[in-house]
Amino acid sequence: MNRYIPDSLKKQVIERANYRCEYCLQPDLFAYIAHQIDHIISIKHGGQNNLDNLAYACFQCNINKGSDIGTMLLPDRIFIRLFNPREDNWHDHFEIDNGVIYAKTTVGQATIKVLNLNDINRIIERND
Ligand SMILES: [Zn+2]
Repeated sequence: MNRYIPDSLKKQVIERANYRCEYCLQPDLFAYIAHQIDHIISIKHGGQNNLDNLAYACFQCNINKGSDIGTMLLPDRIFIRLFNPREDNWHDHFEIDNGVIYAKTTVGQATIKVLNLNDINRIIERND
């Protein structure tokens, strides 16, 4: 599978995301490290290199997500998938208050955990 994403496709992803990370909603304008194009379902899990499987993600979300597609939440140890910006509505799974992102669903919980959305430095950055 070719991972190369043409500039025209990148531009569509970025504009569709309204220049914000689709996981933590951080605008790219003030990011210290440039936002990136994320494969929502990683190539190694069978994800495609097309608009339906691409999301705009800040560096922190993308690096923490890596090729993960879900996690197990304790104590049940049941596999829970991650938030999918193409299929899910952010506000159905999360809410934000004073820079802290709260889960409304297990998908939200799994995503907060894997992407480390509430790292203290990230909360501070959101409140700047
Ligand atoms: Zn992010």
